[in-house]
Amino acid sequence: MQNGKIGVTTENIFPVIKKFLYSDHEIFLREIVSNAVDATQKLKTLSSKGQVSGELGDLTVRVNLGAETITISDHGIGMTAEEIEKYINQIAFSGATDFLEKYKDNANAIIGHFGLGFYSSFMVSKKVEIITKSYQEGAKAMKWSCDGSPEYSLEECDKAERGTDIVLYIDDDCKEFLQESKVEGLLRKYCKFLPVQIAFGKKKEWKDGKNVETDQDNIINTTDPIWTKTPSELKEEDYRNFYKDLYPMSDEPLFWIHLNVDYPFNLTGILYFPLIKSNLDLQKNKIQLYCNQVYVTDSVEGIVPDFLTLLHGVIDSPDIPLNVSRSYLQSDANVKKISGYITKKVADRLTQIFKNDRAEFEKKWDDLKIFINYGMLSDEEFYKKIEKIALFKDTEDKYFTYDEYKTLIEGNQTDKDKNLIYLYANNKEQQYGFIEAAKAKGYSVLVMDGGLDVALIGMLEQKFAGSRFCRVDSDSVDNLIVKEDRKQNTLTAETSRMVTSMFRQRMPKIEKADFHVDVQPMGDTARPVLITQSEYMRRMKDMAAIQSGMNFYAEMPDMYTVIVNQDNCLIKRIIADAESACAPKNAAVLTEIESLKAEADSLRNAQDGRKPEEITQAEKDQLQDVEKQLADKENVLDATFGEFAAGNKVINELIDLALLQMGLLKGQALDNFINRSIELI
Ligand code: ADP
Repeated sequence: MQNGKIGVTTENIFPVIKKFLYSDHEIFLREIVSNAVDATQKLKTLSSKGQVSGELGDLTVRVNLGAETITISDHGIGMTAEEIEKYINQIAFSGATDFLEKYKDNANAIIGHFGLGFYSSFMVSKKVEIITKSYQEGAKAMKWSCDGSPEYSLEECDKAERGTDIVLYIDDDCKEFLQESKVEGLLRKYCKFLPVQIAFGKKKEWKDGKNVETDQDNIINTTDPIWTKTPSELKEEDYRNFYKDLYPMSDEPLFWIHLNVDYPFNLTGILYFPLIKSNLDLQKNKIQLYCNQVYVTDSVEGIVPDFLTLLHGVIDSPDIPLNVSRSYLQSDANVKKISGYITKKVADRLTQIFKNDRAEFEKKWDDLKIFINYGMLSDEEFYKKIEKIALFKDTEDKYFTYDEYKTLIEGNQTDKDKNLIYLYANNKEQQYGFIEAAKAKGYSVLVMDGGLDVALIGMLEQKFAGSRFCRVDSDSVDNLIVKEDRKQNTLTAETSRMVTSMFRQRMPKIEKADFHVDVQPMGDTARPVLITQSEYMRRMKDMAAIQSGMNFYAEMPDMYTVIVNQDNCLIKRIIADAESACAPKNAAVLTEIESLKAEADSLRNAQDGRKPEEITQAEKDQLQDVEKQLADKENVLDATFGEFAAGNKVINELIDLALLQMGLLKGQALDNFINRSIELI
């Protein structure tokens, strides 16, 4: 029997392992089972080269639970006493404390880096034994034992079969790892796709009112998951079944991409586009990362381009450095290539579907666009690859590529300044009236109702030179796309002022809403009053809702324009009535206003071109006084208009109708409107 000290430079490594790796200590099982799998794979390799004599026998790796132990047994290559000395006793561990300090939050990093895989078993064990017999001719079976101090013992023992048993005597404070369900859960998480069969005890059967063991092995894993096969071997059903296996609770995926490269890095995997029903389903960390079929993590940021972390599936690569920090990962050249490769594959696959089966692509577009838009917004390379196949949808559910759509609207939707105007709606129901008005002009209206469309519109305006996007309700249809032959306002300034004043005074006070009244000639068939919402402010507010740092806009009121259509017969009648009612009362005031205006003008002229200090206080006061008188007279006019408007049911009714169309008529105002309407009928 040999006793010795494990070759680490730190006085006692085990408390350190326990302390720092605590959060991740369930990975011990993955480490021990993958060692067993490695030993088995090595044996197969040696055998295929004729270096192992005889039958290999059953190579299943077995995990068994005892009252206080977990035993992991394999029939792999085993270890000789020299190998135990070399691989187990001498662990290179210089500067351990420094290192652990640096990586204390990332157990994977330390374990991978220092080949501490085996030693991770001490995170949960008070004692560990290795009972092993090498495949080599004449090798003696050895038993190594260590109780968590740096001292170990090594002695010969009896073991008939080739291979290794690792016996973990589970610590008193880690008893959970002796629960069958816990261990099975861990095996299914980490070992689900290991390439050698793993058996956890025996299968159970319900018999005579209780669970009894059968003599069949309870196999945990699938040794040849579909991503290890070539696409030509696989049927659609295989991909669907695999998806179900990975995400039993999810809907059928939209489609998938089989990744398979071996140069300049090694990567296989299958990525699925999931069906997203609501934003709640938008979950990252659904892609599982494997390294030679060993589960590593489900947080793949840095490896997969950010926008594709919304996909589901599996990536397997032995070339991703797992033992480094995330920030290092992002700067790693291999990882960058991998990320670029995945982006390209995804774009290629989408393009292929678009080309081969456009109908299918269109059918899935509404579900797909969240990924594609996110990709185009966050990754310039992806945008370039996808811009020819990204789609717009119009209000009649027809789909167009960007180029097709441009060709469609170019003729009719270019304004007098040669800007191409893209009209869109984000709610077909709410903006129905506006959409119809646009269609009546022969315009096409897009549906942009996705969560990322506000941002997409902003980006496309940058990309499409000389183009602008306007929501259909952001102005009257003539002003959305201003043509050369737009009608001019034919009212006198005075009449315009009167109409504006009457309508402005009748607008209700609505919290966080500002109304500005404007008189326009919209044609005799257009509505008498139309409320629109300024594109710019609305968009800024929409952006503020999805982007931080724009709170300023979020706090601003909504800006609406109340457009009064001077061509409409109802408005014409109101103008006529108002003029005959107000003119007699206002005649005198108007004359006074005229003379005050003239006076103010001449005073201003006298001050024009002089420096402020050259103007006397008396001159300033005089102008101020005239301006004040003018304002007072204007108020008198407004009072007359206001009085008329208050008593004019048509004005109030028209305003309410326009508010109603914008969804702004609520509560008491709505009730008043209903009562007045009944009365009018
Ligand atoms: P790593 O697996 O990263 O090399 P480990 O600490 O997990 O580090 O294992 C150290 C070495 O011990 C392995 O490389 C292998 O040579 C040997 N070893 C561990 N477990 C077994 C086993 N079940 N059968 C044979 N050799 C083993």
